[in-house]
Amino acid sequence: MNIILKYWTNDDKAELIALCNAVDRTYLSDRLPNPYTNADADWWLNMVQLNEGKNGVFRAIVVDGKIIGSISVERNAENATEGEIGYMLLTEYWSRGIATEAVSRVCRIVFNELSLDRIVAKVYESNAASFRVLEKNGFGSPVGTEDIKQVVLTPANSNMATPHSPVGAQDIKQVVESDRTEPLRIHSATPLILAGPCSVESEEQILATAQALAKIPEVTMLRGGIWKPRTRPDAFEGRGEEGLKWLREAKRETSLPTVTEVATPEHVELALKYDVDALWIGARTVVNPFSVQQLADALKGVDVPVFIKNPVSPDLNLWLGAFERFQKAGVRQLAAIHRGFSYYKESPYRNFPMWEIPIELTQRLNVPLITDVSHICGNRDLLQATAQKALDLATDGLMIECHINPAEALTDAKQQITPEELKLLFSNLIFRSKNSSNTERDLANLRGEIDEIDAELLQLLARRMEVSAQIGEYKKSNNVTVVQMDRWKKVLTEHIDTGKDLGLSSELITEVFEAIHQASIERQSRILEDGNE
Ligand code: PEP
Ligand code: MN
Repeated sequence: MNIILKYWTNDDKAELIALCNAVDRTYLSDRLPNPYTNADADWWLNMVQLNEGKNGVFRAIVVDGKIIGSISVERNAENATEGEIGYMLLTEYWSRGIATEAVSRVCRIVFNELSLDRIVAKVYESNAASFRVLEKNGFGSPVGTEDIKQVVLTPANSNMATPHSPVGAQDIKQVVESDRTEPLRIHSATPLILAGPCSVESEEQILATAQALAKIPEVTMLRGGIWKPRTRPDAFEGRGEEGLKWLREAKRETSLPTVTEVATPEHVELALKYDVDALWIGARTVVNPFSVQQLADALKGVDVPVFIKNPVSPDLNLWLGAFERFQKAGVRQLAAIHRGFSYYKESPYRNFPMWEIPIELTQRLNVPLITDVSHICGNRDLLQATAQKALDLATDGLMIECHINPAEALTDAKQQITPEELKLLFSNLIFRSKNSSNTERDLANLRGEIDEIDAELLQLLARRMEVSAQIGEYKKSNNVTVVQMDRWKKVLTEHIDTGKDLGLSSELITEVFEAIHQASIERQSRILEDGNE
């Protein structure tokens, strides 16, 4: 069984309401409203957001991808170093060791994060099962004369020091539960900045890069490629497991959470074994639904953030499909990375941005959007302008490849910058407020629509000219004059009337159609004159 303690998010509202209305209330305090309404859930999720990590630790208990309970420890208002624990579980999940495990994990988190010196549980005297759960976790003997007794846990009695079980069982979920620290939370108010080398090349390279990046306040995560998908064989394909050890070392030295690319279930298992905090799925993997499904299956119910890059081809549905596969597998923390698209036309970019595609994605899915400016640009000269454009479109963060010595980089040397250059880039970037940049995002989307309409207009104009040429040929073979004034006047009057119904001025219709008509006449005249068309 796979037990996850997960942060509450607004997306959990429906499940929260269902849980609170289904739970057995025999031993619960009256604090839980009955029935539990939409407004109650709004209040709770808001309260949790305000207090999480400061005055409490609040988690949903997830088993096999479903929220089946809730557990929290809240700082006691009268005694700032004391917290009170509370939990509930759907009845069908009782007596399976879930509460014992959840209490153990949450107490460990609380003592690490809230600097409390005791956790108190208040339990009905008749609730023998709960006393057993608490006792197994080191809580002391019940005290008090009332119906409700108190039991207390202090750090010294808790299982905080229990060593993690050894890793090696070839089961990703087990790796996650036994060896990893608390899952990383990717939703954040400030932009997410994922910086680091294209590839982890050596211990010295990743440590030096990470240490320099850790001094830049905007950087929130350390990226590093461990397995590199290369276009041609015999190129450097990444350091594999050895590189993961160095990446973990870099994390320990800098406290920067880490993120790496995974393309197979084996990669997932190894990355989690070495405590990588978040995973990204590369553009070449997202094109293959078989691979995406394998990765989603491997991550079923595992609470690790997954960033999904766009597929190399400009195919929104393929990108959306990858999200759906992970969502179905119960992966809750998902974000998109826009890294541009392969395109047949020449452009200054390595991968053409086609901004309207990521914008459309975020309108369809409520996920953070990160812009990988390095892989869009392909060279460092375009980074500044492209990063600004991304921020103006209200992206939630940036991925930027940084190397302590880009000239020596084993992969993507042309697009990597030094941490110093990154600092300079940030100093020239304008981080706009979300509201103003939402306007930019809406505008860009509307412009995308205009571009599409213009493209259709052009196709139609071309078709019209083609038919006009065919008429010219016909007139030539049948000796008919090019201009037939009566027909043209009639057609124009009809267009002006239709235009009026559509809210278009007669001036616009006249100008547009006269220009089109004139071009047709010229084309037909040429056909009649030289017959070479
Ligand atoms: C990378 O981020 O190093 C990478 C290989 O990216 P992509 O999948 O976007 O090509
Ligand atoms: Mn790269």
